[in-house]
Amino acid sequence: MPRILDGVAIAAAIKQEVAEEVKKLAAQGIRPGLAVILVGNDAGSEIYVRGKAQTCTELGLYSEVLTPPANISTQEMLGLVDQLNRRDEIDGILIQLPVPAHMDTKALLDAIDPTKDVDGFHPMNVGRLLAGRPALAPCTPAGVIEILKRCEIPINGKHAVVVGRSDIVGKPTAMLLLHENATVTITHSKTQDLGAITRQADILVAAIGRPGFITSEMVKPGATLIDVGINRINDRAEFNRFFAGNAKREAAFAKNGSVLVGDIDPKAFELSGAYTPVPGGVGKLTIAMLMANTVRAAQMRRAKHAGSCAHA
Ligand code: NAP
Repeated sequence: MPRILDGVAIAAAIKQEVAEEVKKLAAQGIRPGLAVILVGNDAGSEIYVRGKAQTCTELGLYSEVLTPPANISTQEMLGLVDQLNRRDEIDGILIQLPVPAHMDTKALLDAIDPTKDVDGFHPMNVGRLLAGRPALAPCTPAGVIEILKRCEIPINGKHAVVVGRSDIVGKPTAMLLLHENATVTITHSKTQDLGAITRQADILVAAIGRPGFITSEMVKPGATLIDVGINRINDRAEFNRFFAGNAKREAAFAKNGSVLVGDIDPKAFELSGAYTPVPGGVGKLTIAMLMANTVRAAQMRRAKHAGSCAHA
């Protein structure tokens, strides 16, 4: 029987640890603060942002949500980011992506003070991650590593294959696995004979954005399968392809008219040694890692200030 890598339990453990760190900082008069900028009224993004703010409150962090209108200019947004960069009580700044198409996303991400870049998307943090220096790592990839480590899945010397090369998930996940001494192969839409490569994986990470794309034939029996994909399906035929005969999913589909599926066909999980379910796997770690990054940013920034004072 494959082992289920329980993202819910791991996220709860991380949040508990974060809450303890927050208490320690409170004793020093420090309350880590996160500012989220949510542009416009995208319903999905609003749900994500609400979840982030609620988790801050739950764990004792300060949070602030800025909601400029969808027609705000890049220049005006840069002004908002600049204000947040200057405020001492804000330790983490996150711009909820995607922003409206007229905005220059790269310019916005580049404007965030790298010490407050809790999403880990600033080129300076990307470079530090590449160079193996302490950095604020992107939350979802950091969550993947936490799952593997906390479930004691060996990484050292193993062949990890990452499907997907996005800046947000694929590339940083590959880099973190490399730092854990995996032999890493990154694949993408132009990769030829993808199955021949994925079948070599001891650890297979799927970050593609295509429902059930990785099939049983593409998986080595006994491999660890990490499914980053989150895809909502509401088509009956597609539902049947993945979940025919699954009473629990059938009930969810009847109730909500849709269910979530990852980038790995659930039938492939049966062949694996261990896997992250969707939902209940990697997705649960992202907010927990954001909280951990915000606390870390608060600690690193204060340590830096203390260091600069000591040298003055
Ligand atoms: P993305 O930016 O669209 O990148 C998708 C990657 O998949 C690209 O590198 C693309 O290759 C590759 N790809 C597409 N079709 C392929 C194919 N036929 N064969 C091999 N590779 C293929 O997506 P993303 O932001 O990385 O997100 C990936 C998935 O993770 C999505 O389902 C998303 O919802 C989910 N996600 C989850 C979380 C979370 O758990 N909290 C966070 C972020 C994302 P090219 O580069 O060649 O186009």
